[in-house]
Amino acid sequence: MPGPKTHNIAYKLLKKKLSLQTLDTLPNYDSYSIFAQGHDFLIYYNFYKIRTTRKLNEQILASEVLQEYYFSDFIYNYLKAAEKRGCLQDEEVRLFIGPGYILHHILDAYMHPYIIYCTGDHARDINKKTWYHGIMENLLDIYFMKKYENFDYTTPVREHFDFDSRKFSKNLEAILNDSLQSTYGINSGGTIFRTSVGQVKLYVRFFKDDRYALKRRFFDLVDPIFKGTSSFSYNRSESPVIDQLNLEHDIWQNPMDESITSNKSLLELFEEALTTCSQIIERLEMLIQSGNITKEAVEAIVPNIASTHGLAANQKIIIKNVKRS
Ligand SMILES: [Zn+2]
Repeated sequence: MPGPKTHNIAYKLLKKKLSLQTLDTLPNYDSYSIFAQGHDFLIYYNFYKIRTTRKLNEQILASEVLQEYYFSDFIYNYLKAAEKRGCLQDEEVRLFIGPGYILHHILDAYMHPYIIYCTGDHARDINKKTWYHGIMENLLDIYFMKKYENFDYTTPVREHFDFDSRKFSKNLEAILNDSLQSTYGINSGGTIFRTSVGQVKLYVRFFKDDRYALKRRFFDLVDPIFKGTSSFSYNRSESPVIDQLNLEHDIWQNPMDESITSNKSLLELFEEALTTCSQIIERLEMLIQSGNITKEAVEAIVPNIASTHGLAANQKIIIKNVKRS
């Protein structure tokens, strides 16, 4: 996961890349930006009720399955479940899967290999060391907010995650229940997503909005105990992350496979993800309108890649290549 604001901004920027023809059928595009949190809904779900490490690990594990396995199968199963219920044409059903879920996954898949190469870690590990991955993504949120939204920490951003959960229809919940079950064996996945959609705002309010820097001081203080809390608070300077954007175009390696190299900057990866995603959505829209959704057709449009390492799905990330500084 790049952070909640990076995904939120990507959703807004994606709109500029979609065709007028597609946008005409999505008149309420703006009011569904919460969908851009994609598979991270599993992580935000009931976060304030999590009391045990075991419960937290369970949720992280479930979300990792969505990140690394059966991506295109899931998209296919989702579309078929929607078709079966006769609501494939519903605006929110199409917004959830395209500009929401697919954008989230593709953006991760493009940015993560570089982020992981830089930080040397991915998921938070309470036994090891501080969570560099989370820290970098939090600063990236701040960087993107300043670049695109004239962010200043005195204005809370929780409102950007406002969502009237009545707009998350029973149909959408049922489609997700069906497709998360048939793809991943997750029970009541749609109900979890539906609940979580209304909780992101609270998460941002608790952990990110920080007008007086009180949270920053507290979270930095307890980081050695809780490992990772210094990834919270938007009241921070983004300057450390500017050095990590690879604006010098140094060569870097995919963290899984050293033979895959690139000299792209993080901003180029971000831009490329948006362009790729807009093409995927346009082609998927055409497929939806054609009424002939087959597994082969979906696989030809949606690359079956993992959102962690960006390579073929169905392999768990093993970090081998890390930037030495
Ligand atoms: Zn991440």
